[in-house]
Amino acid sequence: MIELCAIASGSNGNCYYIGNEHEAVLVDAGISARQIITRMHQRKLNPAKIKAIFISHEHADHTHGARILGKRMRIPVFLTSRTFVSMYPKHKPISPRYFEPGHVIRVGTFQIHPFLKNHDAAEPCSFRIEHGGFHVGVFTDIGSPNENVIYHLNLCNALFLESNYDVKMLWEGSYPWPLKQRIASDHGHLSNDQAFELLKNYSGNNLQLVFLSHLSAENNTGETAMNRFRELMDKFSILPTSRNAPGEVIQFGRKPEQGTLNFEF
Ligand SMILES: [Zn+2]
Ligand SMILES: [Zn+2]
Repeated sequence: MIELCAIASGSNGNCYYIGNEHEAVLVDAGISARQIITRMHQRKLNPAKIKAIFISHEHADHTHGARILGKRMRIPVFLTSRTFVSMYPKHKPISPRYFEPGHVIRVGTFQIHPFLKNHDAAEPCSFRIEHGGFHVGVFTDIGSPNENVIYHLNLCNALFLESNYDVKMLWEGSYPWPLKQRIASDHGHLSNDQAFELLKNYSGNNLQLVFLSHLSAENNTGETAMNRFRELMDKFSILPTSRNAPGEVIQFGRKPEQGTLNFEF
């Protein structure tokens, strides 16, 4: 069994929970430690199960609570050395644990596969997390999908996938021109269209569930993003994440009589 929850998702903060009966890892800690713990309690997730935090890159919406949460829970915070150097000092974990993109890290029964992606950060990574034959991707902050993203996507059973902005809303919206260009660049964020094309063309046969993640407040809505993916909804389940509240906890289980995966809310 594996449990998934978007504790926070959006350009205002990101934190993704992947756990089993006994232990869990977090990808990113982009809201305060207090908020992360409060939201976990709201969803009946036990913070004591967290064994490690993995940081994807230094932007504050991924690092805000990393230092305090690591310290309070006495758990390791894994990141690359270049990410550590580039973080705000007040977000830097006290005892960082460095990983190399492309090298697997084991935490309990989880295997974490970090890989490099295109984003305007020092050494931006995304992760595929493997546990008991399940593969969960956390793919946010991707300007354009590189071959690593495509390779790891193909293996995923479940996926938190960035669907940051609607192209029309971005270009007609109120953001300053340089910011619009940055978001839409190859080192910015995935639009709804780009995320859709990525899924349509490169998802593997095992993919069952996709959380549309890291939505922009100004340049997207949950409804707009969901509408864009309607064509794929007979292939796999697609769920929106909320910018303001923790998502539902989704459980994957294995049906012994059939040997197939199923999930329940
Ligand atoms: Zn971000
Ligand atoms: Zn970022």
